[in-house]
Amino acid sequence: MFFEPNRTQFDLTFRLFGVDVRVHPLFWLMSVIMGWNALASGFEYLAIWVACVFVSILIHELGHVMMGRLFGARGQIVLYSFGGLAIGSSALRNRWQRIAVYFAGPVPGFLLFGFVWWGTRHLDRAAMTPLLRSAIWDLFGINLFWGLLNLVPVWPLDGGQISRDLCDWLIREKGTSVSLGISIVVAGLLALIALVNTYAEQPPSYVRMVPWLDALRGGYMVLLFACLAFNSYQLLQVESRRRPWDREWDYWDR
Ligand SMILES: [Zn+2]
Repeated sequence: MFFEPNRTQFDLTFRLFGVDVRVHPLFWLMSVIMGWNALASGFEYLAIWVACVFVSILIHELGHVMMGRLFGARGQIVLYSFGGLAIGSSALRNRWQRIAVYFAGPVPGFLLFGFVWWGTRHLDRAAMTPLLRSAIWDLFGINLFWGLLNLVPVWPLDGGQISRDLCDWLIREKGTSVSLGISIVVAGLLALIALVNTYAEQPPSYVRMVPWLDALRGGYMVLLFACLAFNSYQLLQVESRRRPWDREWDYWDR
């Protein structure tokens, strides 16, 4: 799920600001599946959703690559199955440079959303067509909600990478295991919250306390975080078998 997918004849490839970008066909398919509900309002709503996903994730990955470049790492972008990879951009020896690269993904998304939100406040009410409103809502979900969710300390999300580097720095040898433990607990908890939110008759009490938790719902969310929890569990098994002299080896070549 998180490794570079094979090349296919349906790949879309181009260069943007000197960065190689490859879009795997699964990226389009997953974006369409994720936005399928939009089709009820019309085909153009689905098209707008796909365009918003494409632009937002491209900007996210460009953020990683550009920050990596600042420190001398050469990165390239692969978009696939509702996500992207900035390959090679965090291959840096300095921990703080790597952390800066991880943060450089979500931050441009927050700025983009801030800019769009500011723009709509200065827009004529008559210009706010339902389609435009839908695009703004899509951008909100992708850049703000997914951007924040991407910063939770779950492997291999950006937040998980930051958590690993911080744990390695704070507790040395056991750092990776501790960050994987945190990842299992947090991912498991998020899967559980999504499950309860999806099937509860009325909003659970934690939603009344923290309203944004309500956005965490749907079978996709449950499956995603359950998979990530299991993935971290498997990596923890590998990590616990690892000898101290294997420490140079890295799981995620991001
Ligand atoms: Zn990222």
